[in-house]
Amino acid sequence: MRLLIIGGSDAAIMAGLRARRLDPRAHVTLVVADRYPNYSICGIPYHIAGDVSDWHDLAHRTRTDLEAAGLSLRLGVRATAIDVAAHAVTVAGSDGNREAMGYDRLVVATGAVPAVNGITGLSGPGALGPADGVHLLHGMDQMHEIQRDLAVRRPRRAVIIGAGYIGMEMAEALIRRGLDVTLLQRGPEVLPTLDPDLGSLVRDELSRHGVHVRVGTAVRGLRRGERGPVVIGEDTTGVREIGADLVIAVTGVRPNTGLLTAAGATTGPGAAIAVDDHMRTGLPDVYAAGDGVTTKHRLLGDTWLPLGTTAHKQGRIAGENAVGGDAAFAGVIGTQVVKVFGLVAARTGLREDEAHDVGISARSVTATPDDHKAYYPGSHPIAIRLTGDSDTGRLLGGQLVGAYGAEIAKRSDVLAAAIFTGLTVPQLCDLDLAYTPPLAAPWDAVQAVAQLWD
Ligand SMILES: Cc1cc2nc3c(=O)[nH]c(=O)nc-3n(C[C@H](O)[C@H](O)[C@H](O)COP(=O)(O)OP(=O)(O)OC[C@H]3O[C@@H](n4cnc5c(N)ncnc54)[C@H](O)[C@@H]3O)c2cc1C
Repeated sequence: MRLLIIGGSDAAIMAGLRARRLDPRAHVTLVVADRYPNYSICGIPYHIAGDVSDWHDLAHRTRTDLEAAGLSLRLGVRATAIDVAAHAVTVAGSDGNREAMGYDRLVVATGAVPAVNGITGLSGPGALGPADGVHLLHGMDQMHEIQRDLAVRRPRRAVIIGAGYIGMEMAEALIRRGLDVTLLQRGPEVLPTLDPDLGSLVRDELSRHGVHVRVGTAVRGLRRGERGPVVIGEDTTGVREIGADLVIAVTGVRPNTGLLTAAGATTGPGAAIAVDDHMRTGLPDVYAAGDGVTTKHRLLGDTWLPLGTTAHKQGRIAGENAVGGDAAFAGVIGTQVVKVFGLVAARTGLREDEAHDVGISARSVTATPDDHKAYYPGSHPIAIRLTGDSDTGRLLGGQLVGAYGAEIAKRSDVLAAAIFTGLTVPQLCDLDLAYTPPLAAPWDAVQAVAQLWD
C-alpha cells in the first residue's frame, strides 16, 4: 500500500502517523514544500516574543522522531499536479527537476495561505515585501524573515494589520521586543469572534500594555515612503497615512486548493475543498484534511473554520480511512482561546447573533464570578456569557474573558463538552466539577452563571 501525503504540517503528519499506526506495512511518503515538517506554527509569536528562544523547540516532533515512526519525508519538494486517473502526483524539487510519484491512496493537506483582502501593495507586481519591512505572517519562513528584520534593521515603529488572535499575539510579542506597536482593525472591536463588549476588555488590556489600538480603520493599501513603509488606512475621519519601520499583515487566510480543484474536486463554504465526514474529496482514492477543506460544525453544518485543533483531527481521520479504516469526523463547535498579555479570552459554540442568523431563538446570561474563593489570595473575576436556546434551554455557546491563570481555557472546555453532549444551560449546574478554595468555588464560575438562566 503506497500512501502519498502532500503537506508536512498538522493535518499531514497526523494522517501519516495514524496510517502507519494502523498499517505498519504501509509505505507512507510525505512531500513537503517547505523544510519544517511538524512545526507548531501556532508557537511563532512565542519565539518572536522570546519565550521560546530556540526555534527548533517549536517542532511537535523532530524529523528523526517522524522517520522512526515510519514516515518517509521529502522536504523542499512541491506537488504541482495530481493525475487522478493515473494515480500519480507530479512533484518538483528545489532544483526544478520534476518527477511523477505513484500512489494507491492520496491525502492532500496543503493548508491555507495568507489572504490579503484587497489591500494594495501586499500582493501582485511591485508588492512590498520583507526587503521593505513588510511581512505576511503564516509559516516558519516568514517567522525567520521577521526575526532577521528585527535583528538587522532594528525597527522601532511597528504596524500590525488585523486584530484577530494572531494579530494580538504578535502585538504582545513586538511590545515585548521593545517596539512601539499600532494595531489596526477594520471592524468596531478587536477579536471579532467575541461579542464587542467582551472584546473591549481585550482592547483595554492591549492599551494598558502600550499597544495603540485603532479600531474602525480599514487598511486600503501600502506604499513605499522615504523612511519606510506607509500604511494607508481609512476611518470615519477620512484617509490617514501611518508611517512604520515594520508592518505585519495578519488579515486572515484562504484555503490552498489549487492542486485539488485542478484535479476536479469541488469546493464548499469558504471556497475550501468539499469533504465528507470520512475526509473523502469525491475523487477516487483522494482524501483531504486541514485548513484547505470544509469543516463540519455540529451546530451550523458545513462551514470553513481553519484551526490547528481541527487539522489534527481531520488529518487523523484521513490517515485512518486511507489505509482501509472507517472513521468519521464528529465535527467541531468552534472552540478557540487566546492569551493577550495578562488576559485570556475564549469562546465555544455560538454567540447569540450567530444563533439568530441560523434561525435559532437564543438568549444569553452574563456575569463576572470570581475564579476561586475571594478569601484565598489571587482571585480574579471572569466575564462569562452563556448562550442557550430560548425554547429548550440547550446550551449553544459560551464566551469567557479573565486573567491568565484563572483557568479560562479549561472552563471553556467544560462548556465545549456540555455543548457537544447536548446539555441544557440548567444542566451545567448538575455537573460534578472540582472545588477547593484556591481554584474554584462550590459552584464553579460557569455554574454560577448558569444559575441565572431561570
Ligand atoms: C501564527 C499562527 C498562530 C496560530 N495559532 C493557533 C492556535 O493557537 N490554535 C489553533 O488551533 N490554530 C492556530 N493557528 C492555525 C493553525 O496553525 C493551522 O490551522 C494549522 O497549521 C493548519 O494545519 P494544516 O496541516 O491544515 O496546514 P498548514 O499548517 O498550512 O500546512 C500546510 C503544509 O502543506 C505544505 N504544502 C503546501 N502546498 C504544498 C505543495 N504544493 N506541495 C507540497 N507541500 C505543500 C506546506 O509546506 C505545509 O507543510 C495558528 C496559525 C498561525 C499562522
